[in-house]
Amino acid sequence: VEVSELKAAASPAATDAPRFRGGALNIRNLTMAYGELDVLKGIDLDIAPGSVTCIIGPSGSGKSTLLRCLNRLVEPKGGDILLDGDSILAMKPERLRRRVGMVFQHFNLFPDHTAFENVMLSLTKVKKMPRREAQRIAEARLAEVGLAARRDHRPAGLSGGQQQRVAIARALAMDPEIILFDEVTSALDPELVKGVLDLMAALGRQGMTMAVVTHEMGFARRVADQVVFMDEGRIVEAGCPEQIFDNPRSERLQRFLAEVL
Ligand code: ADP
Ligand code: MG
Repeated sequence: VEVSELKAAASPAATDAPRFRGGALNIRNLTMAYGELDVLKGIDLDIAPGSVTCIIGPSGSGKSTLLRCLNRLVEPKGGDILLDGDSILAMKPERLRRRVGMVFQHFNLFPDHTAFENVMLSLTKVKKMPRREAQRIAEARLAEVGLAARRDHRPAGLSGGQQQRVAIARALAMDPEIILFDEVTSALDPELVKGVLDLMAALGRQGMTMAVVTHEMGFARRVADQVVFMDEGRIVEAGCPEQIFDNPRSERLQRFLAEVL
């Protein structure tokens, strides 16, 4: 079943026509602390419109905290984050929810709602969209991720891969300028990982701006325009995949790659 779903999901992607108006993200000297613990120690990063940035690094290096700052699930201590020139730190929360999408490791779907309702709810609640229009968009987005036939299933009745694709459909439904992905395949059974990564690669080709925290080095090498290596709250190295994977300059990145590859 999953295989035929994925063929359906892959077909619109195969055209690679740009469909999204991905936004630019500029991070300036971003700092963040949990109490006394400095977790981000001055992050500078530019993400070009429609590009895919993969963020790699050891556990505890601050990758999740960086993504959480980008949609203000946590408040930074200092610095600024600009989305198409607008400071995210000055943005109203409802506006931010529309413009920045996020997908989590553990899906974070509402367990008592169907796939269809999970996609619809953010449209009617956050976007205050009329029900009829929200239904139309939810149906279209679920079809794009290959789940039209599963729309009336609750999360418990779906595989992990299907649940994650519902979560991606929900993020897409908001028509965001950037989507943040935090280890979205880490909780999946191995045979379900590829379908989710293929879907993400297709979104990247279609012009979505994406910031992807991942342990999938093959995906980063294949799909990323830019790879960022973080350690201890800092960006140690950033560059194209060839530079990061084939020519790592710092000893820390060399050691990290020796451990994960
Ligand atoms: P990563 O995603 O790279 O594994 P995190 O951003 O989750 O790293 O964590 C960075 C550091 O912040 C770690 O030292 C972690 O223990 C700490 N940390 C993360 N979340 C919290 C929290 N809610 N409260 C206190 N410390 C936290
Ligand atoms: Mg993390």
